[in-house]
Amino acid sequence: MSDPHELTVLNPATEETVATVPAASAEDVGAAVVRAVRAQTRWAALAPADRARLLRRFADTVDAHLEELAQLEVREAGHTVGNARWEAGNARDLLLYAAGGAERLLGAQIPAPGGFNVTFHEPLGVVGVIAPWNFPMPIAAWGSFPALAAGNAVVLKPAETTPLTALRLAELALDAGLPEHVFQVLPGHGHIAGRALVDHPDVAKIVFTGSTTTGREVMERCARLVKPVTLELGGKSPNVVFADADLEAALDPFSFLDNSGQDCCARTRVLVQEPVFEEAREFLADALAAVVVGDPADGKTQMGPLISRQQLDRVRSYVPEDAPALRGTAPEGPGFWFPPTVLTGERPDGRAAREEIFGPVAVLLPFADEADAVRLANDTPYGLSGSVFTRDLGRALRVSRAVRAGNLSVNSHSSVRYWTPFGGFKQSGLGRELGPDALTAFTETKNVFISTEGPAQ
Ligand code: NDP
Repeated sequence: MSDPHELTVLNPATEETVATVPAASAEDVGAAVVRAVRAQTRWAALAPADRARLLRRFADTVDAHLEELAQLEVREAGHTVGNARWEAGNARDLLLYAAGGAERLLGAQIPAPGGFNVTFHEPLGVVGVIAPWNFPMPIAAWGSFPALAAGNAVVLKPAETTPLTALRLAELALDAGLPEHVFQVLPGHGHIAGRALVDHPDVAKIVFTGSTTTGREVMERCARLVKPVTLELGGKSPNVVFADADLEAALDPFSFLDNSGQDCCARTRVLVQEPVFEEAREFLADALAAVVVGDPADGKTQMGPLISRQQLDRVRSYVPEDAPALRGTAPEGPGFWFPPTVLTGERPDGRAAREEIFGPVAVLLPFADEADAVRLANDTPYGLSGSVFTRDLGRALRVSRAVRAGNLSVNSHSSVRYWTPFGGFKQSGLGRELGPDALTAFTETKNVFISTEGPAQ
C-alpha cells in the first residue's frame, strides 16, 4: 500500500530512489483551486499580447533549462536521453506555438436582421489536467499550455511515478514571470488528488490522458457536474504493410519499441500481406536482435526500461515463456527490463492482439487483401493511430480513410506534431488536442447580438 502523504520517485533503470515528494490531499487540491480561481481573473484580463509575451518568456526559460529537464526525465521515467531532449524541446515549442494563438482567438461577425452577431471565445476558468507517466513532460504541456494561452488557469496533477519534470516546469513558469497560481502543479495519487480535481465544482474542464478504464470513470464523474472533458486514452494501433511496400521502412521496430512501447500510438499490431509475410518475419527477427537496450543515460542506447515493477508484471502477463515469439535482449538485475518482443503465434482475437500492453511487445498477423486489411485494422475497440505502407497512392488513401482512427500516416510512422490535431476515435478518446484549434477547446463561444436600429423617433 503506497503512502497517501508522500510519493517515492524511483529511477526505473536502477530502482534507486530519485526523490520523495509530498502528495497532495483533497484539501490541498481544494485550496489550489481557490487560488487558481482568483489568479485566472487577472490572467484573463491581461491583453492577449501581454499573455503571449509571458508565455514566450516561459518558452525561453524552458529552453535555457532543456538539458536539466531532459536529465530529470531520464532519471524519473527511464527515457533514453535522446528522447528526453526531444520531449523538453516539445514543451518549449508548444509554448511558442500556443503563445501565438493568444492573439489569434478570432470570433465571427454574423449578419442578422436589425443588426449583427459577434462571437467571443471566452476562457473556461480553471482547467484540471491529469497527466500519465509515459510522456510526463509533453502530455503535461499539451493539456496545460494551450489552456493558459486561452486565458485559463491550470491545476496539473502529474502521475505519481513521474512528478519531477512537471514540478520543475511550474518553477520555471514563475521564474519567467507568469503570475503566481496561474499554473500550479500538485503531485498526488489519482484516487485522491486526481479525483478531487475531477469532482471540484470550480474546475471548469478536465483534460485526462491515461487508461480507458480510468478515463471512463473520470467522464462519469464529470457528467454529474456537466463538466466537459478531453480524453486521450489507450490504443492498439495497426501497421498495415502491403506486399509492394518498402519493407525496411515499414517494419522499423521503433514503430512499437520507442519509449519501450509505452506509447498510446505504438503500432503494436503489425499486419503484413501474405506474399511478404515470411520475409517480414525474418526481417523483424534480425531487427529485434540488433536493438540496444540498456542505460537510458547512454547516448547509444535505443531502448530503456519500463516505468515500474507493476508495469513489468503487466507486460509479462501477455508473454508466456513458451509463446512463439521473436525476441531481443535486455539487461538482467535491478531495473524494470523487458526485451523487444514480437508474438508470432497470436490469433487476431487473442488477448495480446486486442488489449493495450504498453510495453515493447507487438503481434505479427497476416492478411490477404485490402478488404481483409481494413477489417483487421478496425477489429479493435480502440482508434488512436496507425500506419499504411504501400506504393499505390490510391490504395494508401482508401485505407487511410477506411481505418477508424484519429491519426494515420502513409509510408511513415510519424508521431504527434504539436501543430496538427491529435486524438482518438472510439474508446481511444474524446476531443482533440494540439493543432491550430487547440486553444478553442479551452473556451466557450459567446454569441452577442448588437442592434443597429436607431432609437425610436
Ligand atoms: P491511469 O489511467 O490510472 O493513470 C493516468 C493518470 O490518472 C495518473 O495521473 C493517475 O494517477 C490518474 N488517476 C488514476 N486514478 C484516477 C482517478 N480515479 N481519478 C482521477 N485520476 C486518476 O493509468 P495507469 O498509470 O494505471 O496505467 C495503466 C495502463 O493505462 C497502462 O498500462 C496503459 O495501458 C494505459 N495508459 C495509457 C496512456 C496513454 O497515453 N493513453 C498513458 C498511461 C497509461 P496515479 O499516477 O496516482 O495513478
